[in-house]
Amino acid sequence: MQQLNDKQLIKRFSYINGSWHSSATEIPVHNPANGELITNVSNAGPEEAILAVKAAKKAFPAWSAKSANERAVILRNWFNLLMTHQEDLGRILTLEQGKPLAEAKGEIGYGAAFIEWFAEEGKRVYGDTIPAPSADKRIVVIKQPVGVVAAITPWNFPNAMIARKAAAALSAGCTFVVRPATQTPLSALAMAELAERAGIPAGVFNVVVGEDAHGIGKVLTEHVDVAKFTFTGSTAVGQALISQCASTVKKVSMELGGNAPFIVFDDADVDAAVAGAIVSKYRNAGQTCVCTNRIFVQSGIKEAFTEKFITAVNKLVIGNGLDDGVTIGPMINAQATKDVSDLIQRSISAGATLVLGGGNSPLGDTFMMPTVLTDVTNNMPIANTEIFGPVSPIICFEDEEEVIAMANDTEFGLASYFYSRDIGRIWRVAEGLEYGMVGINEGIISNAAAPFGGMKQSGNGREGSKYGLDDYLEIKYLCFGGLTK
Ligand code: NAP
Repeated sequence: MQQLNDKQLIKRFSYINGSWHSSATEIPVHNPANGELITNVSNAGPEEAILAVKAAKKAFPAWSAKSANERAVILRNWFNLLMTHQEDLGRILTLEQGKPLAEAKGEIGYGAAFIEWFAEEGKRVYGDTIPAPSADKRIVVIKQPVGVVAAITPWNFPNAMIARKAAAALSAGCTFVVRPATQTPLSALAMAELAERAGIPAGVFNVVVGEDAHGIGKVLTEHVDVAKFTFTGSTAVGQALISQCASTVKKVSMELGGNAPFIVFDDADVDAAVAGAIVSKYRNAGQTCVCTNRIFVQSGIKEAFTEKFITAVNKLVIGNGLDDGVTIGPMINAQATKDVSDLIQRSISAGATLVLGGGNSPLGDTFMMPTVLTDVTNNMPIANTEIFGPVSPIICFEDEEEVIAMANDTEFGLASYFYSRDIGRIWRVAEGLEYGMVGINEGIISNAAAPFGGMKQSGNGREGSKYGLDDYLEIKYLCFGGLTK
C-alpha cells in the first residue's frame, strides 16, 4: 500500500448516500499471496443495506430526470478517473485478490470500458411507434429506468463485475446498491471514492461491505423498494437468490457458473489453439467463469497439440502477482487449492493421467501448480465440475457430432471455444453449441460492445452491448385514443 500514488483510494467504510459509514465491528482483508493483513474494513449488516436502499430510492427521481447527455458527462468523468488511477487500482486489486498486476490493470481498463461504452449507449434508449389497429388510436412505446438496482458480486473480478452492472444501470437512469464479496471490498470502495470525485450524486452509487452475505442479501433481494436484482457468482447461490426475489417479483439477471469446452479440430492452427487455450485457461489462475474447463482434442492432432500445450504451460511463472514477470498468482485462499487438488486426485483415481503439476507449489498453500491431465473422460469429476483452478483436462474425440454432444452434456452454458479453419464446420459447430458465447479461433472474447451472458443454468440477461441496457429498463406502452374528429 505504501507504493500507492493516491493513498485516499484505500477506504475502510461502506459508502452510503454519499458518505462513509462506519460500523461497530470490522473485517480483516488479507493478501492471498502471503496471508498478510492489508487493512480492516467496517463490517456493515442488514440495517446499513436498508439505509443504502432508502438512499438509492431518494436519489432516483433526480438522477432519472437528468438527460442521458448529463449522465454521460458524469459517467465519462468516472471513466477518466478510473483510467487515471489504473496503476493504483490495479495494485489494490492484486493485493486483495492475487492476480498478476498486468492482469489487474487489464481488469481496471476492461471495467472502465463498460462505463465509457454505456455512457454513450444511454443516449440511444429509443422507443417505438407502432401502427394501431384502429384509425382513432396511436401506439407509442417508451423505455424508462426500472428504479433502484441491487447487486451482489464475487471476488474473482472485484472491479469489473461491479463496473459492468453499474455502468448499464446508471446510464439507464437507475440508482445502485452493491454488496461486494467479503474477500475483496477494497476495489469496490476505491470505485466509490472515484464515483464521488466524478460528481455522481449522493445515493446514486452505494457500496455496502459486510460479511453477513445472507442478511444483506435478504434485504437486497426482498426489499420492496428494490426494482431489480443482479448477481454474479455461483449457480447454487444464484438459484437461492432468484427464489428470494420471487416474493416481490423483481426483475432479475444472473451471471453464474460455467463449464467451458475448448475444442481443437484436426484442421485447426495448432499454435493459435495452444495460445488461445493458455489465456483462456490460466488467466486469473483459472478462476474465471469463462475459463476453459475441458479441452477436447480431435484424435489426429492430439499428440501435436498436447506436446506444444505442455511446453507453453511450462513457461508460466507462478508467484506473487506484484512481482515482475509473474503470470500466475495465488488462488483466493488455501481452501480453494485444497478443493482443486481433491478434484485432481479423484480424477486420477478414475483413470486420468497426470502429466504436469498436480498440487500445491512450494511457494505456499494458496499457490497451485499449473496442471495438465490427459486420458480424461467427460464423466470424470474434473470434467463435470466447474474447476475454478489452473487445471487443464484433455479429452480425445473422433468426430464433430460426438464432440458437440459431449460439449453440451452439462447444465452450464456460458462460454465455449473452438478452433477450426473449415467454414462449413465453423457454422455447424457455432450453431450446435448450447452456450451464450462462442469463441471461434479466439480465446479471449469479452468486451463492452458484445453481449456477455449464459444459457441454461449459467444464468439469464446480458451485460455489455446494446442488449445490456434492456435489463435496466421498463417498456411502457402509451395508447393515444379518441383521435378522430
Ligand atoms: P459465490 O459463493 O456464489 O459468491 C458470490 C457472491 O455471493 C459473494 O459476494 C458472496 O459473499 C455472495 N453470497 C454467498 N452466499 C450468499 C447468500 N446466501 N446470500 C447472498 N449473497 C451470498 O461465488 P464465488 O465462489 O465467490 O465466485 C465464483 C463463482 O462466480 C463461479 O461459479 C463463477 O463461475 C461465478 N462467476 C460468474 C461470472 C459470470 O459473469 N457468469 C463472473 C464471475 C464469476 P461472500 O463474499 O461473503 O462469500
